[in-house]
Amino acid sequence: MQTKIVATIGPASRSREKLKELAQAGVSIFRLNFSHGSAGDFVDTIRHIREIELELASPITIMQDLSGPKIRLGVLPEASITVTKGMRLLLGPSALRSGELPFLPFDHDVILESLVEGDRLVLADGGLQFVVTERRGERLAVLEAQNSGIVTSRKGLALPGKDMRLPALTDKDRRDLREGLALGVDAVAISFVQSARDVLEARAIIAEAGRHVPVVVKLERQGAVDRLDEILAATDIVMVARGDLGVECPLPQLPGIQKSIIRACNRASKPVIVATQMLLSMVSSPAPTRAETTDVANAVLDGADCVMLSEETAMGNFPVETVRYMQQIATEAEKMLTGQRQIAEPEGTRGIPQFLAYSACLLAEKAHAAAIVSHSISGASARQISARRPRQRIYAMTPDAETLKALNFVWGVTPVQVLAPENEPSHVNRAENFIEQEPAFAKGDSVVVTAGEPKKGQQPRGTNMIKIYVK
Ligand code: ATP
Ligand code: MG
Ligand code: MG
Repeated sequence: MQTKIVATIGPASRSREKLKELAQAGVSIFRLNFSHGSAGDFVDTIRHIREIELELASPITIMQDLSGPKIRLGVLPEASITVTKGMRLLLGPSALRSGELPFLPFDHDVILESLVEGDRLVLADGGLQFVVTERRGERLAVLEAQNSGIVTSRKGLALPGKDMRLPALTDKDRRDLREGLALGVDAVAISFVQSARDVLEARAIIAEAGRHVPVVVKLERQGAVDRLDEILAATDIVMVARGDLGVECPLPQLPGIQKSIIRACNRASKPVIVATQMLLSMVSSPAPTRAETTDVANAVLDGADCVMLSEETAMGNFPVETVRYMQQIATEAEKMLTGQRQIAEPEGTRGIPQFLAYSACLLAEKAHAAAIVSHSISGASARQISARRPRQRIYAMTPDAETLKALNFVWGVTPVQVLAPENEPSHVNRAENFIEQEPAFAKGDSVVVTAGEPKKGQQPRGTNMIKIYVK
């Protein structure tokens, strides 16, 4: 399988046995959702994953997912309010509660002050919708229900299309990030990102901790989709977070948004994860629906690097079976993706790294190479090669332990750590030594090698050569 699987850990999967089964079934990235716990709750899980990684002798990436500024209603003293279509309610801070109309407590003054007539509010599950029909003073608004349903305490609330510019990192997120980094997470996902600034703030905290783990931007706001170019330039990895994105944007537009985000990420050679409800029915059923099966395959065909599981592995009845299905569906889709097709030229770019990667893929294809081995410090060359979606597996060699974990997000890439790099300064020699001792290659196999071959007496500075090595 060349597509990477991300699995969310929860009650159904946090035991050591389940974690190992999931890894063996094909999970290369585990997601720890800090909306449902803090660092202390994940200590054992992280320790187990590290042990399993050693046992299986293959790198596993731990992605911390920060909760972000999800806005929620306050606590309803009446526990629930039954809303009927056309009903009028009052939204405002708990302190201003009055008996005039059914009251929805909401303690976000900045948002209350920004509401104007005609604004739409959607409860997070997308079920109930309201429109602001009237303002009452600075902090109260009259809402009219657009449909019927039940409101309960602490429900997440979305204001589709409203650009609120709340910073993506809350105080809890900053604390969680510092604690997560101290526990050794390999990547961090930021929720409800709105601008490149959010990414830079996370990077500053990561740098303070002396780390350089990749940042994953969760695209789940219309405003973020509108500013994709700016955000993409700042981030390492993108997640199409279809859960909250599907509340913010009209659902019929979601497939188009998914495809355009993936395309932009592929063009930038940055890994992209497709997330939410991919095999949701497998929470309670041992087999997926036809529609879900097709959704996973289409994500791979669209160009997703990773596909993600949430409830399915966090709280489902069949976490391991779900991963197995996902693995099989992705493998079939990859055959379609790489089967009858010419390697595509890099689009709209005159960059030498892109064309080196393109040439390596063409050479691998024409020479019927068994694999492509790419040595680099940053992993950038492997990402460029992957973006061309070659048929051959890409072995990405790096001496850098953090790059190794980041490469787990990249389609078709098997990360390989260069141990004791001081023993062999030449990157080409390192690659050739690897090919010689790697049992996946038979004597006589051709392997395409890309590496940085510095001028005499200089430090390597990026990939500048491609060669064919015959084992
Ligand atoms: P997000 O919007 O960030 O995806 P979510 O609430 O949808 O948040 P998921 O991580 O997608 O959460 O997981 C789906 C469900 O699995 C959660 O709603 C929760 O019920 C459960 N879950 C996830 N992680 C945990 C955990 N660590 N402990 C307990 N339950 C969890
Ligand atoms: Mg979230
Ligand atoms: Mg979710």
